[in-house]
Amino acid sequence: MSLTSMGKNGLQVESVPLSEVAQRFGTPCYVYSRAALTAAYGAYRDALQAHGLAGRSLICYAVKANSNLAILNLFARLGAGFDIVSGGELARVLAAGGTADKVVFSGVGKSRTEMRAALEAGIHCFNVESASELEQLSEVAGSVGRRAPVSLRVNPDVDAKTHPYISTGLKTAKFGVAFGEAFDLYRRAASLAHISVKGIDCHIGSQLLDPAPAAEAADKVLALVDRLAAAGIALEHIDLGGGMGIQYRADEPAPAAAAYLSPMLARLAGRREKLVFEPGRSLVGNAGLLLTRVDVLKPGEEKHFAVVDAAMNDLMRPALYDAWHDIVKVGAGDTATSAATGASMSYEIVGPVCESGDFLGHDRELALNEGDLLAILSAGAYGMAMASNYNSRPRAAEVMVDGDAMHLIRRRENIAELFAPETVLP
Ligand SMILES: *Cc1c(COP(=O)(O)O)cnc(C)c1O
Repeated sequence: MSLTSMGKNGLQVESVPLSEVAQRFGTPCYVYSRAALTAAYGAYRDALQAHGLAGRSLICYAVKANSNLAILNLFARLGAGFDIVSGGELARVLAAGGTADKVVFSGVGKSRTEMRAALEAGIHCFNVESASELEQLSEVAGSVGRRAPVSLRVNPDVDAKTHPYISTGLKTAKFGVAFGEAFDLYRRAASLAHISVKGIDCHIGSQLLDPAPAAEAADKVLALVDRLAAAGIALEHIDLGGGMGIQYRADEPAPAAAAYLSPMLARLAGRREKLVFEPGRSLVGNAGLLLTRVDVLKPGEEKHFAVVDAAMNDLMRPALYDAWHDIVKVGAGDTATSAATGASMSYEIVGPVCESGDFLGHDRELALNEGDLLAILSAGAYGMAMASNYNSRPRAAEVMVDGDAMHLIRRRENIAELFAPETVLP
């Protein structure tokens, strides 16, 4: 399902013209579709259903991809659990109506304060990533008189064949317990009074398009589960992480959820363990776009620049990963006073931030006028969640479209609140 369609008032999301969103809430502005979010979750659940696994699976949406309360609340209503990586994300999930007993807590560096908060909330499981973390968690659990439910996140040493910054399953990554050390660490965990061994976890990377690495990782994990069972350590659940990729370019299709997940899911049929999945990007990425306005056209000798009002602080993926986002004209609501249409030419789409790395797209063939609205597509994941206030820029507004309604789900920040926590010397 495509997020946008062309209506008589230009590009629209569901039944709402983007020009109306811009008029009402200003730009830059993230726009999400409730229907697209619901469909992405449905596609994941249907893929599990097709393998007869839905009844014993928990889909834990990875909060870091987009942690807006309205989005968390929508997934909670659909029955999702949550994969968190901080105490802040736990607080968001609870504030959004999620329940702690469907929360798994990942991450290489959980603080004792975060461990305590998660124990007191009663989360489903800690995904423990090192021997030291296991000992610390055991101590903290003892100090609050609880047993911590634990999975070990194992590092299966498979190459996810994705961008190195989002590849997590190789030996060289900081993530997870080395595969060869996991068995002994399970024995240690099973001996600790305040640890309750529940499961196993693995997450090999993000934006994965080839299903083979995830299936290979699953094979390794299942072999370890069987070896542990033979040694008297029976696990209740297997968590195979997230990582499913999405389509970012119109000319580069990504596999559908069913096709991507099938090889991995086929290996799980006939087993008795419960299953956990941690999809992030695939549930939100193509359900959101970043709406921006062209402020300045700056023709040059070598390159032509279109300076827009969104920047790397709003959407960091191009600057951080050299990532591609399709950029299209909204085609209405433009504020250009002249009726003249700019000639089509190749533009560098850049923001106003003082960094040469501040670009949103290179070499885009577009016919632009100052005042035109542009939609930067596939921006629902790792967009707003990574936004910053660099250059003292207030973070963008976020809007959720639902049929013909638009709901402001995060108001635009104002400038005074950017420096409200700061004080000058006495
Ligand atoms: C980021 C992350 C995810 C989600 O990854 P996606 O590629 O967005 O699906 C899942 N699990 C863990 C442990 C993560 O760090």
